[in-house]
Amino acid sequence: MRYVSTRGKAPVLGFDEVVLTGLAADGGLYVPEDWITLDDDDWRAMRGLPYAEVALRVMLPYVGAALTEEELADLLEGAYARFDHPAVAPLRQIGPHDWLMELFHGPTLAFKDHAMQVLGPLFDLLLTRSGRRLTIVGATSGDTGSAAIEACRDREAIDIFILHPKDRVSEVQRRQMTTVQSPNVHNIAVNGTFDDCQALLKSLFADTAFRDEVNLSAVNSINWARIVGQVVYYAWAGVALGAPDRSLGFSVPTGNFGNIFAGYVARQMGLPIDRLVVGSNRNDILTRFLETGTMSQESVVPTISPSMDIQVSSNFERLLFELYGRDADEVRAAMDSLRQNGAYSVPDDLHQELLGLFRGHRLTDAETSDAMRVILEDAGLLVDPHTAIGIVAGQIAGRRDEGGVTVSLATAHPAKFPDAVEKATGVRPPLPTRLADLLQRPERVVEAPNDTRAIQAIVREGLRR
Ligand SMILES: *Cc1c(COP(=O)(O)O)cnc(C)c1O
Repeated sequence: MRYVSTRGKAPVLGFDEVVLTGLAADGGLYVPEDWITLDDDDWRAMRGLPYAEVALRVMLPYVGAALTEEELADLLEGAYARFDHPAVAPLRQIGPHDWLMELFHGPTLAFKDHAMQVLGPLFDLLLTRSGRRLTIVGATSGDTGSAAIEACRDREAIDIFILHPKDRVSEVQRRQMTTVQSPNVHNIAVNGTFDDCQALLKSLFADTAFRDEVNLSAVNSINWARIVGQVVYYAWAGVALGAPDRSLGFSVPTGNFGNIFAGYVARQMGLPIDRLVVGSNRNDILTRFLETGTMSQESVVPTISPSMDIQVSSNFERLLFELYGRDADEVRAAMDSLRQNGAYSVPDDLHQELLGLFRGHRLTDAETSDAMRVILEDAGLLVDPHTAIGIVAGQIAGRRDEGGVTVSLATAHPAKFPDAVEKATGVRPPLPTRLADLLQRPERVVEAPNDTRAIQAIVREGLRR
């Protein structure tokens, strides 16, 4: 399997290079040269298999010759063994034709573990095999940092440094990062905002001498391996609920468009998905785009669903590439327009075509709180703010064929956002037992000024080579 860039000017690469590279050299995102399709019998044959075996059947064609089937099977077996539910992504019925898929049973209680737990050992295997090492530096406003740390801890070929804005992540989120004692894990609390952390990260990557000196890499959500790791649960839910003989809609609380794009990939592979619903908070750039055909950036406002407080949905570029019939010139023009004018539009016929599959729905914080309360009253379920948005968006915009089903994705455990959940419902969600002592564990973190040289010094000092 070979991969091409959405901007058409970067080298065509194999799976291993795409995983280690992340972003394409032309600023674009890598996508498979051809879509892999499974036929109805392939899907039917997945029914009743353990999660790791479904994952193997979905992922193997994308991996190509980079790993043997046995290597991939071992890797997946180990990755999903770290989830605390035997089904890995259990499905819960919440209405006559409505289901909730719980994606928060991984080590850090958010869906990002699904892809990160695969990406960590994959990096390690590919690096060790080629005798290389990587220094991963990331900036986080919460969930990505802890998922990346859990995935990369104790790995021989990787040193990981995560920047977070000091005093601006929740206590649970901070402690999920700072209580990891592995020698290759480094937490840096920056005196600044999340935007400052991202700017620091950019300047580290822009310093080519430093980048080459430490072999810098990133684990952000544009990495193709993260998308593939997420296609698995769409297939899992689909076959469990009757696909390919029954049509499916999915409702997804959306920020960077990585999760829902994995649903689109599952559809390209032949799963009968006839509706994908984008759930938004007040930062509703995608919902506005679906309503108007124009993508236009506004400033970010903080909400009670902070993992969706985002104004640039990087992964949307992959969908745009498909929408334009894989014309990289059109993608480049749209991205230039976004950079220069903060906006781009798609022609009316393409906008209508998108609406055949995608819908958006936004909730204010007040509506999200109401939803958490009503879901607890009606279904006896305590859900986190992101999940509540997905459930309501699915109820409103998740039309389905006669006999079809709608699946909402529960992207985080309620205990990850205890204050918002308690305020809405009066119930404070407890942490799962394996994390019950999180608030007592010792923390390991260094403070740093908002200064590139200071961060570089910390990275150099922390490297184990
Ligand atoms: C990251 C995250 C999202 C957004 O996912 P995208 O793939 O960026 O669209 C939604 N909910 C939670 C809890 C998250 O951590």
